[in-house]
Amino acid sequence: MAIAGGGFAGRTLALAFAKLAPDGFRIALIDAEPAKTEDSGAEDPRALALSAATKNLLSALDLWQELAPSAQAIEAIEITDSPLNAGLRPHFLGFDAELKGDGANAHMVEHGALARVLGGAVARTPAIEMFAPETVVDYAAAAFKVVARLGSGEAIEARLLVAADGKRSRLRERAGIKCVGWSYPQIGIVTTVAHARPHHGKAVQHFLPSGPFAILPLKGNRSSIVWTEDKARGEAIMAADEAGFLAELTKRFGLRLGEIALAGPRQSFPLDMQIARSFVADRLALIGDAAHVVHPLAGQGLNIGMRDVAALAETVVEATRLGLDIGAGAQLERYERWRRFDSAFSAAVMDGLNRLFSNDRAPLRTLRDLGLGLVDRAPALKRFLVSEAAGATGTLPRLLKGERP
Ligand SMILES: Cc1cc2nc3c(=O)[nH]c(=O)nc-3n(C[C@H](O)[C@H](O)[C@H](O)COP(=O)(O)OP(=O)(O)OC[C@H]3O[C@@H](n4cnc5c(N)ncnc54)[C@H](O)[C@@H]3O)c2cc1C
Repeated sequence: MAIAGGGFAGRTLALAFAKLAPDGFRIALIDAEPAKTEDSGAEDPRALALSAATKNLLSALDLWQELAPSAQAIEAIEITDSPLNAGLRPHFLGFDAELKGDGANAHMVEHGALARVLGGAVARTPAIEMFAPETVVDYAAAAFKVVARLGSGEAIEARLLVAADGKRSRLRERAGIKCVGWSYPQIGIVTTVAHARPHHGKAVQHFLPSGPFAILPLKGNRSSIVWTEDKARGEAIMAADEAGFLAELTKRFGLRLGEIALAGPRQSFPLDMQIARSFVADRLALIGDAAHVVHPLAGQGLNIGMRDVAALAETVVEATRLGLDIGAGAQLERYERWRRFDSAFSAAVMDGLNRLFSNDRAPLRTLRDLGLGLVDRAPALKRFLVSEAAGATGTLPRLLKGERP
């Protein structure tokens, strides 16, 4: 098996195969960036909200235990909807009791912490051979094998090639798979803030006219900010000096947690929605951002990628145990049936929420606030929404339930 792309999705998949497949199963993991070391990823200010299902997957692979000390559980969620200059941002919808006690919590994990845990595990796993920095530039599928051609001129033969090479996937392009989607007229600004008062594990999403502004709890008195902003205004905010940036941030953050200060670098990301028309081709399977990119407003991008990881690992491992060809059409079709509709549905939900909330039209605001208020008073519906976000609905691969297939 060869995996092109050693981001979070590619590395987790390599570790899943190494853990679950019978002895002798070899994995080539090829990544364009230098091999991850102790501090790789530390410079990326992103933090990730990992769903309960992703946590289960990492637990089943014996990785969660190492990550847990740096993970902050989300104990409560508050959602508000108000104009930018509103003095108060009234609560419209909250989740609190629904998140307590049943393992449904998401956890916030800093990019560097996850990179360290996955990178360390890959380095300790003899079944994984890492090629980095190295790129897969092309591939050719034949009757019983696929050959990945590397930038160095080397060729790797495998039964199955996995494209985990991110949203601009070269392998997807080489396979002639088109995408449906668009770029948002927004950018995502990410930074970390320190605040005077504790957050008590509460995540806050302020829906503002130019996009959602999320305050996500990290360990200590710190929070990660994911701030969707209209492109022109966002670029001006990114170009401001530190005092100007902090003033804009404070306007949105509010005073709930006392005085705030920047506690990390700021970075902006272009935002897209993109779904590959097919998740498979001859001896090729797409996972992670190579297969789908969603708006980050609910922190689901990698979680959806981890569902691909779990579904592909289960499909391949079962095929291996039965002595079947892991790259054969039947296995790939099973994987695609499992993942494509679910991913497209999640992308459509994120897109719909962004369109519904990222505007300042008064009638729409009244309607959506009425909707939020009704959801807030419906405990059964709230429990359902929490289990959707936890990734606990639908036909789940065993790894997402914390079991090994
Ligand atoms: C602002 C923002 C906030 C987000 N917050 C969250 C969140 O809270 N929770 C969440 O679940 N998701 C979140 N996401 C989404 C998440 O970051 C991505 O979905 C995830 O990182 C994608 O991982 P990946 O491994 O699929 O792709 P990538 O991280 O893009 O990795 C691709 C890898 O492939 C390598 N590569 C590329 N081309 C080649 C090639 N030809 N050969 C070999 N290697 C190659 C690259 O070097 C890279 O290492 C957020 C996204 C944004 C923009």
